[in-house]
Amino acid sequence: TKTIHLKSRPEGKPELKDFDFTTSQLPTLQEGELLLQTKYVSVDPYLRGRMSDAPSYVPPFEINKPISSGVVAEVLASKSTKFSKGDYATGLLDWKETQVAKADGLIKVDPNQAPLSAYLGILGMTGLTAYLGLTEIGKPKKGETLLVSGAAGAVGSVVGQIGKILGLRVVGIAGTDEKVNMLTSKLGFDAALNYNTTKNMAEAIAKACPDGVDIYFDNVGGAISDAALFNINKFSRTINCGAISVYNNSELPKSISVQPFLVKKSASMQGFIVSDFADKHPEGIKQLTEWLQQDKLQYTKTIVEGFDYIPQAFLDLFDGKNTGKMIVKL
Ligand code: NDP
Repeated sequence: TKTIHLKSRPEGKPELKDFDFTTSQLPTLQEGELLLQTKYVSVDPYLRGRMSDAPSYVPPFEINKPISSGVVAEVLASKSTKFSKGDYATGLLDWKETQVAKADGLIKVDPNQAPLSAYLGILGMTGLTAYLGLTEIGKPKKGETLLVSGAAGAVGSVVGQIGKILGLRVVGIAGTDEKVNMLTSKLGFDAALNYNTTKNMAEAIAKACPDGVDIYFDNVGGAISDAALFNINKFSRTINCGAISVYNNSELPKSISVQPFLVKKSASMQGFIVSDFADKHPEGIKQLTEWLQQDKLQYTKTIVEGFDYIPQAFLDLFDGKNTGKMIVKL
């Protein structure tokens, strides 16, 4: 079966040459295992971290071994009591067209409840990241101002929409005029800024957030987050979800020193990984499903077709080619 390996550890921005297309044999199905056909593959910025060998919260991918990420697959054959032929399963799986995997660790998903790709986005890891990061760390109160960077992406687009459901004033930051327009015209954001065309971000944020920023949901880090700091309110909460603007840097960029801002404003800043709140995942999925079914949340996505496009779709995340969740459909 067709398989994608990590060929070399990227230096700086990953390139297609860092990936290798190969074929691998399918082992015979053992007790407790499933034969799976890949239907949807999630590509995510955090995979960049696993391509390096620096210590992190998930172990690095091995060279000349398959890359894995969130996948939705159809069960072609089952030797597990949990799944039958024709069911759909999701979980961390290899970048392979078909594969044999243990049923334990995979979750059954229902295509009648939501589109299958939603289980990799709004009803999956990125939806939970948005919901739990905002509610558990942001501790939002009605009427507060929420600023979101990476606002048109998978996590950011959901953060902003949940902010509106919870009665916040929501301002987004994204990289193109099309994305900025989508945030305000389609997703209900109160205002949005294009960081690529805005000269002075700190000033632009101040204008868009006349009452200051109570919650900053940070997906990008770097200069955009520096600009946000100039606008935080007393007792504000900054949620460090991600820092995509520096993932490809071999040296950390020179940022402003955050301490004086935090001291002056009695403000907090907290990083998190969605798995920190594993006990709250079922509750999160329940809430997100409810809002989705009530049309209070919109599921935005960019779907690219074909197994061979998986690496390119991943690279495109760093050029902002996606709006909402980036998914590859097979
Ligand atoms: P997105 O769907 O947001 O895709 C990435 C987006 O980042 C691009 O579309 C692009 O949008 C933006 N971007 C790329 N390069 C830059 C840059 N140099 N400066 C500013 N923006 C940039 O990805 P996700 O929603 O999946 O992830 C968003 C963030 O959340 C990432 O940092 C990720 O690592 C993090 N994350 C953290 C988790 C956790 O548990 N803590 C879990 C999941 C994700 P644009 O056009 O606006 O530039």
